[in-house]
Amino acid sequence: MSDYKLCPLFTVMQAAEKSAQKGNPAAIGAFNVNFFTQAQGVLEGLRRADAPAIIQASKGANQFQGGPDKIFYMLTKAMENSEHDLPVALHLDHGNVEKGEECADSGYTGIMIDASDEEFPLNVAITRGMVCYAHPKGVGVEGEYGQLSGVEEDIQHEETVYAKPERVVEFFQRTNADALAIAYGTSHGPNKGSNINDLKTAIVKESYENMADAGLVDNHFLVGHGSSTVPQELIQEINELGGDLQGAQGVPLEKIKEGIEFGLRKVNIDTDLRLGITATTRKFFKDNPEAAREDTLKEAKQVLDTQLDVIDPRDYFGAVKPFDILREPPAESGVEAFVDLMALIKERIAKHVEFLVNEFGLNGLAASVENVSLKEMKKRYSDSDNW
Ligand SMILES: [Zn+2]
Repeated sequence: MSDYKLCPLFTVMQAAEKSAQKGNPAAIGAFNVNFFTQAQGVLEGLRRADAPAIIQASKGANQFQGGPDKIFYMLTKAMENSEHDLPVALHLDHGNVEKGEECADSGYTGIMIDASDEEFPLNVAITRGMVCYAHPKGVGVEGEYGQLSGVEEDIQHEETVYAKPERVVEFFQRTNADALAIAYGTSHGPNKGSNINDLKTAIVKESYENMADAGLVDNHFLVGHGSSTVPQELIQEINELGGDLQGAQGVPLEKIKEGIEFGLRKVNIDTDLRLGITATTRKFFKDNPEAAREDTLKEAKQVLDTQLDVIDPRDYFGAVKPFDILREPPAESGVEAFVDLMALIKERIAKHVEFLVNEFGLNGLAASVENVSLKEMKKRYSDSDNW
């Protein structure tokens, strides 16, 4: 087991808020990962920008890896492998009560409990329940209020249900959750185009102002989901390489930055990394057709050839799963072509992550994250939670 320690969810978001209060608005990038090289790429991008981060895994990512303990192992191994000593929190994305408890017991330092489908009072009660489970372990909690349109694994909504700023304060006061994802018009997945005109960053602004009036902003943080920028040159590249992504469009970077200026302290990025992996994998097989001769990679190529619009890397990396390289450094796999492909993916992700965290105001912020253990967080929570 690695000695690499993950930092609490709370402290990274707090560093972003402190930076904002000093006049440099910032939000922690929360990057979804599914496999080892993807985590390595994110860590490399962070290192280049000297930035703290949240690395998160969805229920699907946990399932793909074989459970939360495997994701924990994968991330701490990736940190050890690159001697990564900057603050990183490990967070569950869109969890339910069962998964939330499992992850809080498996080394995660943050849990998102998504009860946003329920009416407000029940959403509050379920989130409060998660806080009561997680905080005594020093683990932070993020709730969600309102609904994002788009598709994220088993979550699918046709339309946005906007968060009401006047209820955001109530949500925090009744749950004592650390963070709250509020729906303000962003959406999950690569097709955010139809929603861009409906972006209401004023919801972020008003929510944050209400929180400031209630004395909440030092310890409670707003989150923006569905915030991938979906670079058009990436879509073009994928389509030129045989993909069929129609109408893919992300959230304009200026809009995300406006949200950060107005009070977002955590911004979720998933689709952008998937697109980068898809483009890199397609290009690799085009440039190296002989690589597909390796039996394992052949299967991955077949998936790429048949599912033209696929953007979930898990679909084609499932083919190489038996090698265990999804949790380990690829050099140990013994499949040479695969090692080359992983190096390309790592670099592509590192570049995009470095770019984004600089845009999010995180450059050089790593040292400002308070060095606090989960044990110390547990003590702090017990004062504020009023059991
Ligand atoms: Zn989300």
